[in-house]
Amino acid sequence: MALIVQKFGGTSVGTVERIEQVAEKVKKFREGGDDIVVVVSAMSGETNRLIDLAKQISEQPVPRELDVMVSTGEQVTIALLAMALIKRGVPAVSYTGNQVRILTDSAHNKARILQIDDQKIRADLKAGRVVVVAGFQGVDEHGNITTLGRGGSDTTGVALAAALKADECQIYTDVDGVYTTDPRVVPQAQRLDKITFEEMLEMASLGSKVLQIRSVEFAGKYNVPLRVLHSFQEGPGTLITLDEEESMEQPIISGIAFNRDEAKLTIRGVPDIPGVAFKILGPISAANIEVDMIVQNVAHDNTTDFTFTVHRNDYQNAQRVLEQTASELGAREVIGDTKIAKVSIVGVGMRSHAGVASRMFEALAKETINIQMISTSEIKVSVVIEEKYLELAVRALHTAFELDAPTRQGE
Ligand code: ADP
Ligand code: ASP
Ligand code: MG
Repeated sequence: MALIVQKFGGTSVGTVERIEQVAEKVKKFREGGDDIVVVVSAMSGETNRLIDLAKQISEQPVPRELDVMVSTGEQVTIALLAMALIKRGVPAVSYTGNQVRILTDSAHNKARILQIDDQKIRADLKAGRVVVVAGFQGVDEHGNITTLGRGGSDTTGVALAAALKADECQIYTDVDGVYTTDPRVVPQAQRLDKITFEEMLEMASLGSKVLQIRSVEFAGKYNVPLRVLHSFQEGPGTLITLDEEESMEQPIISGIAFNRDEAKLTIRGVPDIPGVAFKILGPISAANIEVDMIVQNVAHDNTTDFTFTVHRNDYQNAQRVLEQTASELGAREVIGDTKIAKVSIVGVGMRSHAGVASRMFEALAKETINIQMISTSEIKVSVVIEEKYLELAVRALHTAFELDAPTRQGE
């Protein structure tokens, strides 16, 4: 008998009918003899609706109060699912993050899980109950409700699986696995049977929202067997695995990730002297703004241009801080651009293949897409381009790296 944690995302519990369908599915697993812990998200659209409500009161809602509110979405779905299970004769009990004590730090809206008390869940499982836990939420040491950041139910699922030493954590969603890229953007994208934790972590952090980044970090750290599956279609899904197969067929690129979440700032004509990068980025980091990509131009006239990207939500703040720095340093000007996008190719196969970046640049050049910034690591290459070319770039790269699904006859 196995212990399985199953997490169902927003669209999978988006209506009462779907919740009934999920209950049917859980019931079948239970009848197969496995112990089941279910984690659910709020109904699709609900978290956005709650955030919009808060923003009608204040553009920047108090983080603690926002957590009190947005955590209610999941409280509704746990109760509905538990009711649907009980109606089917399956003993079940629902718990909020506070009730099972998912202890987090106090960083409201982006809290990190510190500890999970597994006693209560174990006692329920022993008594034959399916345990339904609210995703996305926890409680800090002072008893305040916290939430784990958007997409955080994935992390609840994996953290519970780690705490309970579950045999598998299954993430049920509206696609049948992890694809070479977002199948909504590239219809020729292909489902991957397996992807390594390392690659999945890069994909998630570079914009593939199929799994929250922290859930992958958790799974890697605690070695939780993790699988992404379709909620209502049969299939093997995608296994996130530790082993990197050394086979001839290892593709160079496993996937393409992209995001539109960043904005670019340039400070022009700063003196080219030691310490200038620190003078520019010190105040940015002091303002608690994370910087992603950085480029500094070769100096001419003893001055240089310095460009970096930040999250779009931080753009205005960062611009204000930078204007201040510019006047202190006597820089020429500050310019900004929010209409950028980042496209990344990811794959452990890159380690053993040269020329991957140039192949990427060639594919973009063929589409006359200008590259504004570049950054690389051992298993990824990212570029910043104009946002309007994003989809074209992703499709071109998908084809250039031979990731397109073979077209069937008649298509
Ligand atoms: P859930 O509500 O179940 O958590 P999400 O919307 O968070 O679902 O994640 C699933 C979505 O992730 C898919 O519908 C798909 O559009 C998107 N996605 C982005 N990149 C990928 C990828 N590489 N593979 C699969 N899905 C992806
Ligand atoms: N309901 C939350 C969100 O929409 C958490 C989740 O779905 O994972 O972000
Ligand atoms: Mg999600």
